[in-house]
Amino acid sequence: GGFQSMGLSHAMLKGITKRGYKVPTPIQRKTIPAIMEGRDVVAMARTGSGKTAAFLIPLFEKLTLSKYQIGETVKYPRALVLSPTRELATQTVKFFRELGKFLNLKVTQILGGDSMESQFSALNDKPDVVVATPGRFMHLCVEMELKLNGVEYVVFDEADRLFEMGFGEQINEILKRLPDNRQTVLFSATMPRVLVDFTKAGLHDPTLIRL
Ligand code: AMP
Repeated sequence: GGFQSMGLSHAMLKGITKRGYKVPTPIQRKTIPAIMEGRDVVAMARTGSGKTAAFLIPLFEKLTLSKYQIGETVKYPRALVLSPTRELATQTVKFFRELGKFLNLKVTQILGGDSMESQFSALNDKPDVVVATPGRFMHLCVEMELKLNGVEYVVFDEADRLFEMGFGEQINEILKRLPDNRQTVLFSATMPRVLVDFTKAGLHDPTLIRL
C-alpha cells in the first residue's frame, strides 16, 4: 500500500511527491484510509511518526471534495487543528503549505503571543483551515463571536500535551461550539484517563489506531 493506492487526488499526490515522501509511514498507512472513510479516529502516535501528514492528507481530500458539494453556502473556517504549542502549530502550517501546494485551500495560524489585530483580519478573511493554540483561539472566538458551525474536520494534535498544558477548559469550550456532524481525529503519544473521558465525550465511535 503506497500513496498511489489510497485513492488520493492528482493534486494531493503531486504535493506528496514534491515534499519528497515516497512511501507512507506505518501510522499514515493505518490512519489515512480510516479517516478518509469518514470515521472519527484516535491514533496513538508520537512526533517523528509522520502524524502531521497523516491528518493533513485526509483534511485536504475532504475539504476539496466538500467544497464542490457545499458550493456557495460554505461557512468558514471549515477545519480546525489545535496544537499545544506555537512551535508545533507553526510546523503544521509549514507542512500544510508544502503538501497542499497544488490544492487551493487557505490556512491561517492563530497563536498566543501574536498580534490580535492581524488575527481578527485573518479570521475574517475566510480561511479554509485554522491551525491554532487553544487559549488564543478561544479568546478570539468570544471576542469576534466567531461561529464554528461550518467546521467539518477537527484535529486534536498531541492531545495529551494539550491537557498537560492546561488547555482542558478551552478545548471543552471549543468542542461545545462545533457542529455534531463534524469529523474528529485525535493524535496522542499517551492516553491518560482525562483523554479517555474526553474521547468519549468528543468523538463518535472512534477507531483506535496504535502501532
Ligand atoms: P511528524 O511526525 O509529523 O512530525 O513528521 C516527522 C518527520 O517525518 C517530518 O520531517 C516529516 O516531513 C517526515 N515524514 C512524514 N511522512 C513521511 C513519509 N511518508 N516519508 C518520509 N518522511 C516523512
